[in-house]
Amino acid sequence: MFETDKPVQGFFGQFGGRYVAEVLRTALDELEEAFVDAIHDPIFKEEYSDLLRDFVGRPTPMVFAENATREIGGANIYIKLEGLAATGAHKINNALGQGLLAKRIGKTRIIAETGAGQHGVATAAVCAKLGLPCRVYMGEVDVRRQRPNVFSMELYGAEVTSVTSGAKTLKDAVNEALRDWASSFAETHYLLGSALGPSPFPDMVREFQSIIGGEVKTQSKDRGFHPDCMVACVGGGSNAIGFFAPFLGDSRVSLIGVEAGGRGTSLGDHAARMDGTGSVGIVQGYKSLFLLNEDGQVQDTHSISAGLDYPGIGPQLAHLGTTGRVQFLRSTDTEALEALKFFARTEGVIFALESAHAGAQAVKIAQEMGPGKNLIINMSGRGDKDIFITAKAIAPQAWKGFLSHEIADMEGIQ
Ligand SMILES: *Cc1c(COP(=O)(O)O)cnc(C)c1O
Repeated sequence: MFETDKPVQGFFGQFGGRYVAEVLRTALDELEEAFVDAIHDPIFKEEYSDLLRDFVGRPTPMVFAENATREIGGANIYIKLEGLAATGAHKINNALGQGLLAKRIGKTRIIAETGAGQHGVATAAVCAKLGLPCRVYMGEVDVRRQRPNVFSMELYGAEVTSVTSGAKTLKDAVNEALRDWASSFAETHYLLGSALGPSPFPDMVREFQSIIGGEVKTQSKDRGFHPDCMVACVGGGSNAIGFFAPFLGDSRVSLIGVEAGGRGTSLGDHAARMDGTGSVGIVQGYKSLFLLNEDGQVQDTHSISAGLDYPGIGPQLAHLGTTGRVQFLRSTDTEALEALKFFARTEGVIFALESAHAGAQAVKIAQEMGPGKNLIINMSGRGDKDIFITAKAIAPQAWKGFLSHEIADMEGIQ
C-alpha cells in the first residue's frame, strides 16, 4: 500500500497542476502536506487497512470467467469484482481514505460533489461510519433523475443540497462545492470523487484507489499467471488509474481504458475525450483534455452510464494516453448493454453500466489475443444501481407494468 516513491507528482507531462484562486491554494497546500505525512505513518495505514477489510469488505475477489472464456474462445478472462465493495463500487476506497485523512487533520465537516450519486453515496456511508457531518452538492436535474441514490445518502444522514445554477448537473455541483470550501476550509474537507481536480487530488485519489491494482497483482501471482492485458472503463479515471497504477512500469502488460461512445460520434452524443476529440483546457482547477464546443465552452456529453457521462479526464490518464502507455477505445451504449447481458448470462454477474463498457471491449480483445493469454477486466461496480435504466432498455413493457402497479399502490399515501 502507498508504494509510490513520489506520491504527489502534481504535473503529468503538460497535464495536471493547480489552477485555483489564491484562497484555495492554502487549503490545497495544507491537504498535500497532511496526505504525504499520513501515508508514511504506520498508524494511518493500519487504520485504513482495518476499515478496508471490515467495513469495505476487501480484498474484493478476482474470478476466472470460465464460461465467458470458453464461449469467446480467446484469452483467459478474469474479472476483478470491485463491485462487491461496500456501496457497490470502487468509490468507497477513496472516500474512506480521504475521510480518515480529514479526521486526522481535525476537520469536523465533509462536503462532496456528486453527479449520478455513486460518489455521494460512498461519501455519505463513510461519514456515517466515521461520525462526520456531510453535505453533498448535487445538480437539481440529477437530484430528480437519481432519486434512489438521494434516498440512500439521506438515510446515511447526509444533507443533499440541490444546485440550481448553470445546467444543474455535475459541473455546477463541483463549482458549488469549491465555493463552499473556499470559505470553510478551516474546518471542512472537500472529498473529491475522481482522479482529477487541482493537485493533490489526482495523486491522492490514485494512491487510495491503487489498492485495486495491488490486490490484482497478488491475486494473479497466487494463481500463477502474469496479466497480458488489463481493461477498465474511464469516466474521470479513478478506477482505471487505481487498477493500472502498480503495472504502469511493467511493459509486459497492455493497459486499455474504455470511454463512453454513447449514441454516436457527433460532439454531444458521447463522452470520449482521448481519441483526438478532446482539447487541451483548464477547467475546475486542472489542465487536461476536455470536450469543448467551438466557443471553448465545456460540452454536454451523453452516455447511458451516468458515471462515464463527463467532459473531462484525469490528468495522469490524459498524459498516459498521449504517450501511448494506455490505449483508449470506446464502447457505445448498445455495446455496453450487450456486454452486461453476456456476463450476466455466462458468469452470473451483473456489471454496472460503466464497467460493462470495459467488458464490451475486453470480449473483442480476448478474441484477438487468442488462447493462452490472460486478460483482466475491472468490474468497477455492480449493476443493481442501474436497474431503472437497464430494465427500461431491456424489458420496457414488464418494467412499465411494475412501475404503474407501484404508483397505483402508492395512491393512498399522502
Ligand atoms: C463513478 C463510477 C465510474 C467512473 O468513475 P472513474 O473515476 O472513472 O472510475 C465507473 N464505474 C462505476 C461503477 C462508477 O460508480
